[in-house]
Amino acid sequence: MLGSLLLAGSRLPLVRRTVSGVPLTRKVVDRFVAGETAKDAVGAVRRLTGTGLSVTIDHLGEETKDAGAAAQTARAYVTLLDALRELDLGDRAEVSVKLSAVGQALGADGDKIALENARQIGEAARSAGATMTLDMEDHTTVDSTLGILGALREDFPSTGVAIQACLFRSEADCHDLSHDASRVRLVKGAYAEPSSVAHQNKNEVDKAYVRCLRILMAGKGYPMVGTHDDRLISITETLADRFGRSVGDYEYQMLYGIRTDKQQALTGAGHTVRVYIPYGDDWYGYFMRRLAERPANIAFFLRALGGK
Ligand code: FAD
Repeated sequence: MLGSLLLAGSRLPLVRRTVSGVPLTRKVVDRFVAGETAKDAVGAVRRLTGTGLSVTIDHLGEETKDAGAAAQTARAYVTLLDALRELDLGDRAEVSVKLSAVGQALGADGDKIALENARQIGEAARSAGATMTLDMEDHTTVDSTLGILGALREDFPSTGVAIQACLFRSEADCHDLSHDASRVRLVKGAYAEPSSVAHQNKNEVDKAYVRCLRILMAGKGYPMVGTHDDRLISITETLADRFGRSVGDYEYQMLYGIRTDKQQALTGAGHTVRVYIPYGDDWYGYFMRRLAERPANIAFFLRALGGK
């Protein structure tokens, strides 16, 4: 309930100005965000890959309403990927892209602009030996994102996509995406969605996650299990046994700064664990979704504001 209120409030300009304007906010943001510059992101990549983790890097930003800013975001990814090429990490590094940051929200031409910008990122990823995964944003963007995914996969077959278990449509989308070499990141879903399109209750979302996971693990693609939930991780292991998948046939993904103990434990057990590293100065939307996921984070934030 508190989480939904926070997600709804986070879209109000007054809330954005208030939260962003508090100097101590930055200290709390640092728990979830690797820094503001590409250099900060590369530093985090070095640190995490040095401990055996894989990474996917997100240049923060979303719902861009300006074509110049969308092109600039694409260039920021290209610069980052050039720096990653020098680290020679191969598929241990990838980038995560929000299509609304590269043009999807620009009205009638939005899909075309987003596709062109994403293609540039795809080219840079390919020459760095890396891959690209499309994040999934609120439910109004799903058809467009899957359409752009299809076009991108013609040139960049390894392009992955996130699917949100909370949406009623996602089991069907998982079926459609369960073909050979198809990389699909399954997540619960971080956006406030109406009851006409999404499960509202946490238990229902968890059950839907298991149904989607079963489809992906039984299918021919490459499931990327994006969760910090112990129960879902142990169900993943059971499904891997049932469908004859070995550790290299799927991977776990978690967010920067969350359950780092579990990230290391799974890596130690031989799994691929990919950490989602966000960086950049447009951290507001990402940060508010992390607060909304967990009441304890809100308390942590309020304590920091109080100087404790
Ligand atoms: P939860 O039940 O929320 O959490 C399980 C446990 O994980 C909690 O008990 C707690 O210990 C820990 N935990 C979870 N969240 C937090 C937090 N914020 N702070 C501290 N501890 C926490 N969502 C989208 O809608 N679109 C995307 O493209 C997308 N990409 C993602 C990429 C990755 C790699 C991951 C891991 C998540 C992504 N998400 C995305 C977010 C996702 O939808 C969930 O909101 C988020 O992962 C929390 O769900 P959970 O599965 O960890 O389960």
